[in-house]
Amino acid sequence: MDSSGNPIQVAGLKKSYGALAAVKGIDFEVSAGEVFGLLGPNGAGKTTTVEILEGLRSRSGGRVSVLGCDPEVQTKQLKDRVGVCLQSTRLQDKIKVREAIELFSALYTRTVDGVQLLKRLQLWEKREAQYATLSGGQKQRLALALAMINDPQVLFLDEPSAGLDPQARLEIHLLVQDLRQERRTILLTTHYIEEAEKLCDRVAIVDEGRIIAMGTPREIQERTLASSTIEIECERPVPAGDLPAWQNAEKVSLDDQRTRIAAVSTRPARTIVEMVKWLDEMGIELADIHIKRPSLEEAFIELTGKSLRE
Ligand code: ATP
Repeated sequence: MDSSGNPIQVAGLKKSYGALAAVKGIDFEVSAGEVFGLLGPNGAGKTTTVEILEGLRSRSGGRVSVLGCDPEVQTKQLKDRVGVCLQSTRLQDKIKVREAIELFSALYTRTVDGVQLLKRLQLWEKREAQYATLSGGQKQRLALALAMINDPQVLFLDEPSAGLDPQARLEIHLLVQDLRQERRTILLTTHYIEEAEKLCDRVAIVDEGRIIAMGTPREIQERTLASSTIEIECERPVPAGDLPAWQNAEKVSLDDQRTRIAAVSTRPARTIVEMVKWLDEMGIELADIHIKRPSLEEAFIELTGKSLRE
């Protein structure tokens, strides 16, 4: 199953817990240096999928390969080469940050410099602090430090910023962006649309154990039927009278100064051409043009019929 050489390969993956089919046959591959996101509501099967890839759960069917290994069979070999940040990492309350790094370092054949790692994750000042005294953001940064200690080429991050305040979330995002710059392969799960949009090269939308859309966030947005809003600012007022019926344009409006035209369209590229052509025929120059595309959130709602914030 390693013909493409992609570090993460998943084909026809299935997982049932007794009578509950949590993952119902999913396929995706993550290429080297790519940040790939599994985006979906609670219970969609995201954690089940990543934990199978991490070798923490067995699968009921299908094939998976991580760095050419079957995680269920070559679990130990793989553990040395991947980084794992679980949805909730809980360490002993009394363990100090420095001790946690030392403890985890001993588990791998290859490790990075712990001091550098703590500095990089802004935990150096906290090295003698006990785990229980850390803030949520610091705990999560420590979890990421522990995931990076073996200098892994592949990282699994399960809900890396869940429950964090906006500042702590931003810090985690900056770190993931850094890891991406270093060309590491990252599979992350999230139920935050903005996170997927900001961090991921490609996203798979998972719902009820199936992938229902996959592509760059932009591609997924463009595939939706939701409408875009076009706003055109004119150099001088549009003459009195009705505006023409441009193709696919709905809710066409003009402001009181008659210089700003707005239209909603399901085919914005076509509508814009017509609008610009008409303005040109009228001898009116454009001052500005703006298209507001449907968001990934709108695409998500259209595809799943649900909101992620439910
Ligand atoms: P969340 O973001 O809430 O973790 P998720 O998309 O990661 O959601 P999973 O945790 O993979 O979803 O869960 C998928 C389904 O499988 C859910 O219905 C869940 O209740 C069920 N499930 C998960 N783990 C187990 C388990 N160990 N035993 C039984 N059912 C489980």
